[in-house]
Order: sequence, then structure tokens, then C-alpha cells
Amino acid sequence: MVDLERLRRNLEAVQARIAQAIARSGRAPGSARLVTVTKRSSADCIAPLLGLGACDFGENYPQELVHKFEATAALEPRPRWHLIGHLQTNKVKKLIGPLGSALVMIHAIDSLKLLDTVSAAAESTGIHPDVCLQVNTSDEESKHGWSPEGLMAELDQIVRPRAVRIVGLMTMAALGTDAESARGSFVRLRELRETIERQSGLALPELSMGMTNDFETAVEEGATLVRVGSAIFEGVES
Ligand SMILES: *Cc1c(COP(=O)(O)O)cnc(C)c1O
Repeated sequence: MVDLERLRRNLEAVQARIAQAIARSGRAPGSARLVTVTKRSSADCIAPLLGLGACDFGENYPQELVHKFEATAALEPRPRWHLIGHLQTNKVKKLIGPLGSALVMIHAIDSLKLLDTVSAAAESTGIHPDVCLQVNTSDEESKHGWSPEGLMAELDQIVRPRAVRIVGLMTMAALGTDAESARGSFVRLRELRETIERQSGLALPELSMGMTNDFETAVEEGATLVRVGSAIFEGVES
């Protein structure tokens, strides 16, 4: 059972908090968008969310994303899908093509090999999702993504023309950190974006950063896409 009233209240609360963080930091209204992370909820929640005006949805695993896409393919407006989790090169073909243009963004490109594989799949299918490069800005060992130094070292190869457009950078704060301790990671991502833009001329308008525990801090530091799950689905399904 989906508690629609609770879902509406949660969504509105998150959207209000995003809007307030935007206003606090003097940014333009609407300059940070919500990606609703559905990974711990059922596909039944998507139709009501679309009705409430949410249209961007994120999943961690390609297989689960394909499942949710199929379960909601007849809905209007059409959900826009984001893969936010790690992508293995051998899963790329399962994702690019089958979803058509409903796959709008792959957030966590973390190697040249993956970037090339995604680009090749885009070329052969004619489906061109935007991509972000994942950067490990918290120095956590276990995390995927380039180190800032590693990314700069490969920058010349990264910015070569490909069949997908690199539109921004993505990061995750260290596990278990509170919003204030996450701030440094977000600042680091924003500064890296500036360095890359200056050195390569590549425009990187998107910063994908911020989750339930730290999305307001991320917005204050320039996030354009926040990926929020728990705060939206808390208490919604029983
Ligand atoms: C799960 C997940 C989120 C959402 O996390 P919440 O804390 O539930 O908001 C965002 N980004 C990534 C990469 C995730 O895996």
C-alpha cells in the first residue's frame, strides 16, 4: 500500500527545502532539480509522483532501472530515468538502447573504459544519454570515481569528442557524514569543475551531488541535481 498523502507531504517538504537552500545562496529559482531515487520503493509510487510534478527518477542498478522503466512505460508524462549507481561495462548494452530516450543521464561514469563503452553503445543505438563523471572528493578508499588528480591526469583523453555529451560532475559525500562535514566534498567538486572548464574549455553545467542527509548543503555549494530517496519515501509504503 502506498500512503499517497504521506508521499505528497514528503515530496513537498523536500522541494521546499531545495527552494529555500536555493534562495539562501542567492541562486536562480529552479536552478537545482530533484532526482527522486526510487531504489528502495516499488514502481507503484511512480504514477502518483508524476501526478505531483516529479518527473526525474534515479535507480542504482541497470536491471532495476529497466524493470521500473517497463512497469511505468505507459504513464504520462513519461518518467525521465537516471542511472545514479556504478555501471559495469558489461551492463551498458542492457541499458542503452532498451530504454530509448527515457534514459536521460548516466551519473557515475568512473573510467575512460566505461566512457568509451557508453559512447560506442550510443553510437550503435542512436540513443545518446548525457553523462556525468564521478569524482571521489571524500578520499574514501571504497568509493568509485576518479580522484581529482587522476581526472586531471586523464583530462585530454576524457574530453575527446564522443557520442555522448559530458555535462557535469558527480560525487557522494563520505558514508555517515553529516551535512556540514559533507560540505568540503561539495566545494571540492565545484572547484574541480572550474579547473576543468578553464583547462579544457569543456562546459560542465551540471553538479550531481547531495542526498537525503546533505542535499541542502549541496545546493548551497552549487548542486544542480540532488539525488534524494529516503526523505521522499519515509513512511510511504507498508
Ligand atoms: C541511494 C542513493 C541516493 C539516495 O540516497 P538517500 O539517502 O536515500 O536520499 C543518492 N545517490 C546515490 C548514488 C545512491 O546510491
